[in-house]
Amino acid sequence: GELRVTQAGRDLRTLTSGDVFGELAILYNCKRTATVKAKTVVRLWCMERQTYRTIITNKSKKKREQLMGFLKTSRTLKDLNDVQLSKIIDSMEEVKYQDKNVIVREGDEANTFYIILKGEVLVTKNVNGHQKQIRSMGKGEHFGEQALIREVLRTATCTADGPVTCFSIDKEVFEETIPVEHLELFDDSKVLQEADAPEKSSPSSSLKFKDLVPVLYQEGRYQGEAVTLGVGGFGRVELVTTVHHGKYYAMKRVSKKHIVAKRQEEHVMFEKKILKAIQSDFIVRLHAAFKDTRYIYMIMEFCGGGEIWTKLKEVGRFGEPVAIFCTACVVEAYAYLHKKSIMYRDLKPENLMLDARGYVKLVDFGFAKELVRGEKTYSFVGTPEYMAPEIIQNQGHDFAVDFWSLGILVFELLVGSPPFSSSEPQKIYAKILDGVLKYPPYMSEAAKSIISKLCRPRPGQRLGNTKNGIKDVRHHRWFSNMNWHKLRVGQVDAPTIRLIRKGPCYINFDRFPYDQPKADEEFSGWDRDF
Ligand code: ATP
Ligand code: MG
Repeated sequence: GELRVTQAGRDLRTLTSGDVFGELAILYNCKRTATVKAKTVVRLWCMERQTYRTIITNKSKKKREQLMGFLKTSRTLKDLNDVQLSKIIDSMEEVKYQDKNVIVREGDEANTFYIILKGEVLVTKNVNGHQKQIRSMGKGEHFGEQALIREVLRTATCTADGPVTCFSIDKEVFEETIPVEHLELFDDSKVLQEADAPEKSSPSSSLKFKDLVPVLYQEGRYQGEAVTLGVGGFGRVELVTTVHHGKYYAMKRVSKKHIVAKRQEEHVMFEKKILKAIQSDFIVRLHAAFKDTRYIYMIMEFCGGGEIWTKLKEVGRFGEPVAIFCTACVVEAYAYLHKKSIMYRDLKPENLMLDARGYVKLVDFGFAKELVRGEKTYSFVGTPEYMAPEIIQNQGHDFAVDFWSLGILVFELLVGSPPFSSSEPQKIYAKILDGVLKYPPYMSEAAKSIISKLCRPRPGQRLGNTKNGIKDVRHHRWFSNMNWHKLRVGQVDAPTIRLIRKGPCYINFDRFPYDQPKADEEFSGWDRDF
């Protein structure tokens, strides 16, 4: 017979003879995630939980042993230890291909790494319109890592030569689990003089607005309503997914009328322009941008771990390892931005998000600005508690303000509240200009030292803004246990992971009702290039 699968009223798919269903809720012991109804007369076999679990457990144990044996014979993975191999096994999926199937296509966006379990794979490259064969690979060899490591589009095409079975590993998992320096990499530069691969265009090119659907709260007070991740001074950020591949995105939606009323046209255009150009693991990615007559939309990478701000409020204050890790991620984001001549100017725990791995990313580029080295800018921007004295005094400011706010951040992460605070902004400003920092007794000497060096009133003396630039920040003794290289390639275990709750994808966020009367339309045309 035939059965229909629906979720929150939406049709997902039809099941027929030979399909299985219901296993998820049984394995993970959670509530049913979808509804299955008979469409025709249906006969099926059912199995109760304990039996199913026993079968699956035995089967997985056996499979795991086999896989371990297999990976150990792989020449290119031979330097990995059992823990690393076991992580690979945890994260891979088996995929089968028929003869001539293209597994990876040159020029495509790269999301996956492969290890060949069975069969032969041909590697070819386009040279002046012809496919030139570079090599062929067999059991135990791997491919697809180049594009992942270098963040470029696929550099070659890999085709099944006869039936092929591969293990595939997602980009994110690959970056998280596979120590790149231990992989034996194939160097094709001798086979082909390779032109530089094109920069990865925003991965979104394929993302269409009509394919995005809201994710709904599965339970609780707002069950069935669209998930809202955050409501800022400006926009509303909602959780969306696509029907096709089920990835999550954070969609920031801002009323155009509101933008015009608050004269934020330039800021919004600039936020989009910067985010689009940025490719850093420490800054939220912008996958696509859309507009209609009422709103502009930014489709961003979903940072599932939630806001640092929320976590900080939950635990009161962070221990030193967590604070060091968070700050180090910000330092990496700063290094990237400042190199591109962009000041961030809005550092605060509300604008730091955790991804699923516990890595910290900057979001909200509403105050960011491009600045020529040596020049100053005079706008009055930022959040009072985090503003540098030179902004308050309107003396003209530059990249140094980001290091001031970094010092404030270190303080707030370790203490739970910023050093200069009051309910009235005027009083905050007065305290900042007085510049007296009071440290609680539990703070380490190293922490006090880095804060006082980052929060020097004179921008020219501020750590990060002196001769050696941001290197001096990295070399400060507060970071003495930080392996900056490993951090950049995502191989530092994030101590923040303890703060992330497991459960529905929105579990790390506050909940918001879906109010939203429709915004008015706006036609002045400022968003022509958005
Ligand atoms: P602000 O008042 O700070 O200027 P805003 O309207 O500019 O706010 P953002 O700060 O970009 O908006 O986002 C508002 C909130 O939405 C964030 O604090 C966060 O909780 C959530 N959020 C934003 N981007 C993401 C993301 N990529 N993934 C998950 N949640 C996000
Ligand atoms: Mg914000």
